[in-house]
Amino acid sequence: MLTLDQKFVVLENFGHSMRAPAYVVKPTSAEEISEAFELANKKGLTVTARGAGRSYNDASLNGGGLVLDMSTMNRIVEWDPQTGRVTAEPGVTLEKLWQQVEPDGWWPPVVSGTMYTTLGGCLGANIHGKNNFKEGTIGEHVVKFTAILPTGAKVVCSPQKNADLFYAMIGGLGMLGVFTSITLQMKRIYSGLLEVDARPSHDLHEHLTDILDLAPKYDYVVGWLDATAGGRGLGRGQIHAARYLKEGEDPNPQKTMQLKNQSLPPRIFGVFPKSILHYFMGPFVNNLGTLAVNTGKYFASLPHHTFRESHAAFHFLLDYIPDWELSYGRGGLIEYQSFVPKETAESAWAEMIRLSFKRGLPSYLGVTKRHRPDQFLLTHAVDGFSLAMDFKVTNGNRLKLSRMLQEFDQIVLEAGGRFYFAKNSETTPESAMRFLGKATIARFKKLKKRCDPKGLLESDLYKRVFEAG
Ligand SMILES: Cc1cc2nc3c(=O)[nH]c(=O)nc-3n(C[C@H](O)[C@H](O)[C@H](O)COP(=O)(O)OP(=O)(O)OC[C@H]3O[C@@H](n4cnc5c(N)ncnc54)[C@H](O)[C@@H]3O)c2cc1C
Repeated sequence: MLTLDQKFVVLENFGHSMRAPAYVVKPTSAEEISEAFELANKKGLTVTARGAGRSYNDASLNGGGLVLDMSTMNRIVEWDPQTGRVTAEPGVTLEKLWQQVEPDGWWPPVVSGTMYTTLGGCLGANIHGKNNFKEGTIGEHVVKFTAILPTGAKVVCSPQKNADLFYAMIGGLGMLGVFTSITLQMKRIYSGLLEVDARPSHDLHEHLTDILDLAPKYDYVVGWLDATAGGRGLGRGQIHAARYLKEGEDPNPQKTMQLKNQSLPPRIFGVFPKSILHYFMGPFVNNLGTLAVNTGKYFASLPHHTFRESHAAFHFLLDYIPDWELSYGRGGLIEYQSFVPKETAESAWAEMIRLSFKRGLPSYLGVTKRHRPDQFLLTHAVDGFSLAMDFKVTNGNRLKLSRMLQEFDQIVLEAGGRFYFAKNSETTPESAMRFLGKATIARFKKLKKRCDPKGLLESDLYKRVFEAG
């Protein structure tokens, strides 16, 4: 029986730049989720589901409300190594998932840049991977899911059954119901290694042209963009294009697919524990330090080379340094990811990067990907590219940064672009209306009324983007 006898807990976004106090309960079953809705209704509270809290923004925060911490519903209920089909509770992390399926020759079809996200959170945001141009979002690999609605009703959805809910709840930011069981199709692999082609790009034009040209020939493409470089080097960086090894290419697949050959090593050079590395990074996480580090990284990346790398190392590079986000200091960080059509991306991003220099607020990390559209209701994808930019937040720059990101929004919207609700913290109701369109928002709200007539499901993000204004 769930009770609310505890005090508020202060929860944060992934980048530690936003916080909100909430009551936190940990349901262990679908019945307890229903109970939590009843309890919230009685106490006049709103409810938000939270996976691992790895969203860069307020997607799983609910100031003054009730948060359902889904991490205890974390069982893999069924795994069939013959068909590659898995059924799991929503609190299962991508880490637990790939570690279950890889030794049997399978890999999750879409993963985020960190393995610590949960399946519920990945469906809530409808995550994309470095293969978005080829495999679409995670939602395209969901065979079916079960969810509890705030009315207490249990729904089973698939592309064939309750299709309207299927395409709206995936990517619906947990605002229509709470996933309780997810069935996903894994992808067959013939090696624990990927072959990676690493090539430099000298400016933004070359960067985007290379991503466009390489995508059809590879399974994954991702770019590192040095957003501290201006002038003729604006948009320079390095592209990693990777492909699966075909059957027979890896002489010893059983060995390379073993977990011990995938896991990220706990020490750097076999000596320094990685857990303390972020302390050493801290002094470099400022405008000058990052300029120096990025310049060094760029020149080190100049030789075009090819190498083989484990799936885990390729996908989860950001997990290599535990708690790396702490190196951004007390104010934390936010990420701004824009999705812009391929025809307009170059000029839009050149304008944004120049503006960031003018404002003295360069991004310390830029990551580019190639995308294609999908049919989910609140989709963030376009036939184009995305650029994710990380910004350090301080008490001194918070307002200035926020204003600059509003300026970015206008540039992206003018270019016909979209935003990602798991990342951006500044999206306003007006911006959302412009990129999603009035009809889409009306459809989403109509479904919300049907699933959640009392308006119990609410997050800080939902209030900010869909209720304000
Ligand atoms: C280092 C890093 C790298 C990342 N790389 C990528 C990337 O490559 N691609 C990408 O797309 N994203 C990426 N992200 C973003 C991340 O994948 C998403 O924010 C994801 O939603 C986080 O999952 P989570 O389990 O932490 O969910 P949370 O952040 O806790 O929640 C995310 C959303 O899902 C909802 N939700 C959670 N559980 C449920 C449930 N059971 N039922 C219904 N709704 C639920 C929440 O209410 C919220 O709206 C990255 C994040 C980090 C920190």
